[in-house]
Amino acid sequence: MYIIMVASECAPVAKVGGLGDVVFGLTRELEIRGHSVDIILPKYDCLRYDQIFNLQIAFKDLWVPWYDRAVHCSVYFGFVHGRKCFFIEPHSGENFFNRHMFYGQVDDDQRFAFFSKAALEFMLKSNKHPDIIHCHDWQTGLVPVLLYEIYKFVGMTHPRVCYTLHNLQHQGVTREHILRATGLNRHAYFFHPDRLQDNFNHAALNLMKGGIVYSNFVTTVSPRYAWEIMNTTQSFGLGHTLQVHRGKVGGILNGIDYEVWNPEIDRHIPRQYGINTLDGKCDNKRALRQRFWLQDVLKPIVGYVGRLDEQKGVPLITHAIHYCLQHGCQFVLLGTSADGRIGRHFWHLKRHYNDNPDCHIELGFNEELSHLIYAGAEMMVVPSRFEPCGLTQMIALKYGAVPIVRATGGLADTVFDANYADRPYHERNGYVFNDFNNAGIESALHRAIGMWYSFPQYFRELMINGMRHDYSWNYPGQHYLNVFELIRDK
Ligand code: ADP
Repeated sequence: MYIIMVASECAPVAKVGGLGDVVFGLTRELEIRGHSVDIILPKYDCLRYDQIFNLQIAFKDLWVPWYDRAVHCSVYFGFVHGRKCFFIEPHSGENFFNRHMFYGQVDDDQRFAFFSKAALEFMLKSNKHPDIIHCHDWQTGLVPVLLYEIYKFVGMTHPRVCYTLHNLQHQGVTREHILRATGLNRHAYFFHPDRLQDNFNHAALNLMKGGIVYSNFVTTVSPRYAWEIMNTTQSFGLGHTLQVHRGKVGGILNGIDYEVWNPEIDRHIPRQYGINTLDGKCDNKRALRQRFWLQDVLKPIVGYVGRLDEQKGVPLITHAIHYCLQHGCQFVLLGTSADGRIGRHFWHLKRHYNDNPDCHIELGFNEELSHLIYAGAEMMVVPSRFEPCGLTQMIALKYGAVPIVRATGGLADTVFDANYADRPYHERNGYVFNDFNNAGIESALHRAIGMWYSFPQYFRELMINGMRHDYSWNYPGQHYLNVFELIRDK
């Protein structure tokens, strides 16, 4: 099959969170299985250009209709760790992708509506007729809308669209100007509850809703999250739409890329290790302590790596830091925040614990450093309010860091409680709590820390159980192919 991914992220060149990992990892898996995959991305100025091999112009003069004019674009091609990537660069006063950041601009709706339109225009003009267009999240929700309302009528009759929802919190709610900008125009037709009209605000358009309505299949990133968004308030207002289209909605658990996330071959850590050489983890623990000036004492290291966002459970992360330090643990945190208030909160904590030899808070994005934390820590906390899939806990499992998670979304699908899971012992791999409050996370931390100190052998078994489980792209890759096979134009 020929598949084109249209996405706003791809690790490691453009990564904000899990979406970037998924685009890269799934593409790689599909290629291993013999399919041809191209990725189309915006040519952001903040791409990690050092990670792109042989970047060169592939299509010089692409004219993308935009309002009542056309924007001149160039399309570049390069390899990102072997993946074939096209990068669209518009030459216009709006400077859509030269903002020194991926998201968070007032005109994000226009930036990504433009990108969606440009991606289709590029496919059309360069004569690409994929079997499947796979798009992701609100940023590319307009792709199936544009395909079936415009591009189908000018020759693109073949492609079918799979649309993956990575997080329903951000839906691309915007206004009518997007219709004029992209040439969809017909106001009354699109402002309809069955099409793009937002379910809360009838004067607004919802790009993610458009993606759900128009695509041939909708996947989300874990079975539990698929259930939650159709049956609980996790849908952020899209539950009804998903119910209407439930016949084409399914949950496929994300995988992680074991070429990137594998302690046996990881180049970012000082000592590689695996199930049979688990003691090697001690060297990484020592290196992590040296890196963060932590004292070398008999204590477990508890870690957190991730965005610092309300979704991730800021109050519980904070509580976990205090609790761990008071109960014989060291704590390391690596995270960034797009929210100024949350950022200030963690800067304050960082200053507070600055001289504490058991705590280090690193505020920034550092892919290489994250590897050392997974390899050096014995436990990782993921106390999310909601979590569509979550990669952190799956990476932690692979690195023998026991995850302590809240039972929500993909966390509930991947972490099975050491004491209470209704699973055989060899499948239990972490600690799980339900209630989103201090008592909830304490109940799990208390059991985990107690196990580390009192029954180190059992704790080690938990680590090994986690390392043994296969959370690679192997199974999810096959699931996606089943979906593609189901919908493709035969
Ligand atoms: P989300 O997609 O909601 O951000 P996930 O758990 O699905 O969360 O994916 C997070 C990914 O981003 C993981 O690979 C994690 O290691 C990485 N990550 C998050 N924050 C940072 C950071 N500050 N530095 C390095 N890697 C990070």
